[in-house]
Amino acid sequence: MTENLVDKPYVREADFWEPVEGKPGYVRCNLCHKRCIIAPGKYGACGVRKNIGGKLYTMVYGLVSAAHMDPIEKKPLMHFYPGSSTFSIATVGCNFYCKFCQNWELSQSRLEQGLYGVYMSPEKVIEEAMSLGADGITYTYNEPTVFFEFMYDTAKLAKRHGLYNTMVTNGYMTPEAVRKLGGLMDAATVDLKGGGNKEFYRKIMGVWNPEPIYETILEMKKFGWFLEVTNLVVPEIGDKTEDIRKLARWIRDNLGEETPFHLLRFHPDYKLKNLPPTPIKTLEELAKIAMEEGLKHVYLGNLWGHRLENTYCPKCGYPVIERYGFYITAWRLEKGNKCPNCGYKLNIRGEFKGELRRPRFGFF
Ligand code: SF4
Repeated sequence: MTENLVDKPYVREADFWEPVEGKPGYVRCNLCHKRCIIAPGKYGACGVRKNIGGKLYTMVYGLVSAAHMDPIEKKPLMHFYPGSSTFSIATVGCNFYCKFCQNWELSQSRLEQGLYGVYMSPEKVIEEAMSLGADGITYTYNEPTVFFEFMYDTAKLAKRHGLYNTMVTNGYMTPEAVRKLGGLMDAATVDLKGGGNKEFYRKIMGVWNPEPIYETILEMKKFGWFLEVTNLVVPEIGDKTEDIRKLARWIRDNLGEETPFHLLRFHPDYKLKNLPPTPIKTLEELAKIAMEEGLKHVYLGNLWGHRLENTYCPKCGYPVIERYGFYITAWRLEKGNKCPNCGYKLNIRGEFKGELRRPRFGFF
């Protein structure tokens, strides 16, 4: 059984593991802050990293469960190569157990219950991405940390072909894993939920302590990754104003007041179908609090047509980019991403790419 498995192309020895002293055959995974201790023959908490014969293996190298061309704004990354198209890939598995997950078929799928995906080598991913005219690759849909080795090899190749790399992550990767990605990753959307409230993380997401996320974000910043932070607002249980205030302050003080901050509307899904969608009023009030704390780019997500989908110049308030959902409907910035009204240079990486309202969806 063991020999058959390690011969498969999607089973590779993992990065970031060590034997556990005094426990022969056991390994510790250091890829995420859960730092699972895994008995022989068992999986880690993410369900896709397995101890086979005293070594840790990833079971999802190249085992692609979803591959789509998406607008970069869907990640959401509003200030990174706006208007560009990104080839987005996923495997299965996740180190979190969020009861509201919208991709739970992927994230909570466990390999013990059978394999799920089609093998694609990093070379094949790049070939497909380039044939579709992608500007970059995004590692997303399930938590990309759990397919680290595949992400790393693909990111290296993407760079060689002039493509950018971005990831959508819960931020629970260890700083040592962030360091290995280093300059290969260009941007990350770090997804927080419930304002980072500890009790919320414990009860609703199966995460004992969210605090290490902040350490990981700071490590990403050291390598110059362009960062946007999202926060899912879950009504009744994850919408406390003091949590948003605290989070907004942390972003302002550590990442800068011009860091894009997205408050995302919750939709009932998976195990939280009993709650209503987040009231628009709640989102607007929380946005106001984030702005009061000094954040200059506060967006509301999953709320197509709202004025807080647009970008306003932080200096003069002029509407410089207008959006409808994932589409840019008006682009008024001048060369160098400067406000046409007052000349202020906005915190945007990359020039506007694409056409207004150009459809950028495609399926592989
Ligand atoms: S990546 Fe998976 S196996 Fe490794 S520490 Fe995190 S949950 Fe555990």
